[in-house]
Amino acid sequence: MTDNLPVVETFHSLQGEGSHTGRSAFFIRLGGCSVACPWCDTKHSWPAEAHPRQSLAELAAETKAAAEEGAAFVVITGGEPLHQNLGPLCQALAPLRLPLHLETSGVDSLSGRFAWITLSPKRHRPPTRELLATCQELKVVVHEAADLAFAAAMATQAREARGGGQAPELLLQPGWDSPAGQALAIDYVRSHPRWRLSLQSHKLLGLR
Ligand code: SF4
Repeated sequence: MTDNLPVVETFHSLQGEGSHTGRSAFFIRLGGCSVACPWCDTKHSWPAEAHPRQSLAELAAETKAAAEEGAAFVVITGGEPLHQNLGPLCQALAPLRLPLHLETSGVDSLSGRFAWITLSPKRHRPPTRELLATCQELKVVVHEAADLAFAAAMATQAREARGGGQAPELLLQPGWDSPAGQALAIDYVRSHPRWRLSLQSHKLLGLR
C-alpha cells in the first residue's frame, strides 16, 4: 500500500476552471505525467522523481488545515494523478468529509473514490471507456478545429459508455494564449447549447 506520493505542490485557492469555478478549493498537485501534451502548462510536473514524496498523513493534515480555513473541496490534480494508485490517498482524506475532486486525462484505470471527476481527454492519448463512463465533467481544450471534432466524438462516446444515463457536463476550454482556440470555442458553444465555455479564470486573475 502506497503511504506516500510525489507532490509538486499543495495550495488553497479558488477553483479556476470548469463547473466549480470560483469555489474555495485545496489543491494537491501530484508529480508524474507521461501524456506529453505539447501545450502543457505544468511541464515541471512530468518527472515524478523530481518531486519530494509526502506521506498521506502529512497530506491529510494539510487538507484538514485548509478545510478549517474554508476549503469546500479537495482537487487532486497533476501531472497525471491516475499514474498513481489514488485509493490510499482517498482513504486517508475520507475522515475529513470534504468532497474529493479529480482532474485527469483518463489514460489510466480509475483508482480511489471521487465525488467529482473532470475528464480532460487528449487527442493523441484518448481516454479509457471507464473514465468516459464515470466522469461528471468532460472538458476539452481547444486550439484548432480538429479539437472540436474530437470534443463531439468524446461526448458521443461518453453517452454510449453510460448506456444513455446521465450525460456529463460538456465544457470547451480555449488553450491559454490561443486566440484561434478562443474564437473556435465561442463560435461552437453559440451553436451547440449543450456545451459551455470554460476559462482559466485563475490565470486571468493572477491566482495560483
Ligand atoms: S495530461 Fe496534463 S499534465 Fe500531462 S502533459 Fe497533458 S496537460 Fe500536462
